[in-house]
Amino acid sequence: NKRPAANSIIQPNFKFEDMGIGGLDTEFSAIFRRAFASRIFPPGLVEKLGIQHVKGILLFGPPGTGKTLIARQIGKMLNAREPKIVNGPEILNKYVGQSEENIRKLFGDAEKEYKEKGEESELHIIIFDELDAICKQRGSKNDGTGVGDSVVNQLLSKLDGVDQLNNVLIIGMTNRKDMIDEALLRPGRLEVHMEISLPDEYGRKQIIKIHTSKMSQNNVLDDDVDIDELAALSKNFSGAEINGLVKSATSFAFNRCIKVGTMAGIDSEGLQNMKVNRQDFLNAM
Ligand code: ATP
Repeated sequence: NKRPAANSIIQPNFKFEDMGIGGLDTEFSAIFRRAFASRIFPPGLVEKLGIQHVKGILLFGPPGTGKTLIARQIGKMLNAREPKIVNGPEILNKYVGQSEENIRKLFGDAEKEYKEKGEESELHIIIFDELDAICKQRGSKNDGTGVGDSVVNQLLSKLDGVDQLNNVLIIGMTNRKDMIDEALLRPGRLEVHMEISLPDEYGRKQIIKIHTSKMSQNNVLDDDVDIDELAALSKNFSGAEINGLVKSATSFAFNRCIKVGTMAGIDSEGLQNMKVNRQDFLNAM
């Protein structure tokens, strides 16, 4: 099932509907066209055109909107190795040189494999969550340590060095695109930028369907639950908040099964027949 990195091929059975991402089909297909189309070109076409595969993308937007979900699914779609996910603040280290060393280590496996196998290497994906944490100190007068500067410089040198490393894809994520150092966003670096916004009503409907699909399959969702209504009522909810809403509705349903006067306080027959109903969702909002 291994694919050479240079030509990572989209999984043949890949379907957006199976990914568990609600409402972001337009964004996903735009990312695909702008960032990964070259990876499914017929052999030799990339060289003929004299282009290079996109090495990095930036997903930005409010918290809990599915950026991490998308980043992980990109890896699956491209048949890549399990991505390395690092958190911006985790990279920073108070000891001089240690933060740069952390960045160097991140690329170590990919570099080693590329040295050994060249274009036959698998694709390595490195996901930077909270990328802004690394960048915001760069050039800042308040930053006596200069750590931010050198970390970004190290990252830039790795990105530029990736020229010869065709087996690395960087996915940066942030809620604050304005904080990201411009130098990181230039062509050849994190060059494809995609905003992942709060879901609209259609998106919310898809997300609610995803998060209630188990209940629905197992007949635990009451017939009075109307997904269109919930989608209309959950305006401004992020995907993560919708996930929380479903969980909270479940606890309201569970609470109905805790009866005063029963031995253990729990109505076990009630639990067996428990259904999550419309009112549970309304209570949870
Ligand atoms: P942050 O900026 O806080 O890191 P994020 O944009 O990376 O957030 P995720 O970690 O992808 O958000 O989302 C958190 C959880 O919310 C997911 O694990 C999933 O359960 C749910 N979720 C968010 N967006 C969606 C979506 N579009 N479809 C389905 N579930 C979603």
